[in-house]
Amino acid sequence: MPFTPFHMGSGILIKAILQGSFSLMVFGWSQIIMDLQPLWVLLNGHGHMHGFSHTFIGSSLLAVISALSGKYLSEFGLIILKISKDSQPIKISWLVAFISAFIGCFSHVILDGIIHYDVQPFYPFTLNNPMLGNVSFASMHKLCLYAGLFGGALFYLVQWHNRKPKNSK
Ligand SMILES: [Zn+2]
Repeated sequence: MPFTPFHMGSGILIKAILQGSFSLMVFGWSQIIMDLQPLWVLLNGHGHMHGFSHTFIGSSLLAVISALSGKYLSEFGLIILKISKDSQPIKISWLVAFISAFIGCFSHVILDGIIHYDVQPFYPFTLNNPMLGNVSFASMHKLCLYAGLFGGALFYLVQWHNRKPKNSK
């Protein structure tokens, strides 16, 4: 759960690569939806911290919920942030909403599965988690931070490159 903001690092890197085919807002929304269950368990002090929400089946359901609710919420968020302007409104297509939500939820299961011992990504088929421990907790935080910094720089580099006037004649 305290890991939620770090998931944005991978999201920023994916945004830099996929640009307009990926919504960072829907991705971010899916991260919040994914960690509602751990938050609930933290607040109540009992239950399975990374339970059904952090399985591939559970996260598929949450991805659908994130996409359906996230499309309009993100379009609204982009207006609030003044990224979407009246003259040039940004519309998120359903395809982009679903792609972003599924990338968000599945990458969340994988990243959490690597560092949290109680994640059972393949439930109910097996309780084993072959991903666990491949990267240490501290290294994962660093990797996500670097992914975010690198992704941010790459995103603006691509934007700048695409905006450069083309002097092809
Ligand atoms: Zn999580």
